[in-house]
Amino acid sequence: MSTEDEKEKQKAIAAGEGAGWSVARVTSKGYMVMHCGCGDHQETLKKTPSNPDHFRQKARKMVRDCPTG
Ligand SMILES: [Zn+2]
Repeated sequence: MSTEDEKEKQKAIAAGEGAGWSVARVTSKGYMVMHCGCGDHQETLKKTPSNPDHFRQKARKMVRDCPTG
C-alpha cells in the first residue's frame, strides 16, 4: 500500500467517524469493517483498492447513507 493510499484511508475513516461511524473490526485480509451510529449500515474499506477513488467514494457513501453524527 502506498503512502497516498494510507492517507486516503485515514481520511475516509476520519470522515466516517465525523458522521458517527466507527471501525468495527479488521478482517484477516486487512479490510476495515465500518459500522454506523444507528447500527443498520456497514461499509468495508479495502486494504489495497484497485480503484484510486475507493476511499473517497466510501467516505462520501458513509456520510450520505447514515450521517447520524
Ligand atoms: Zn446507519
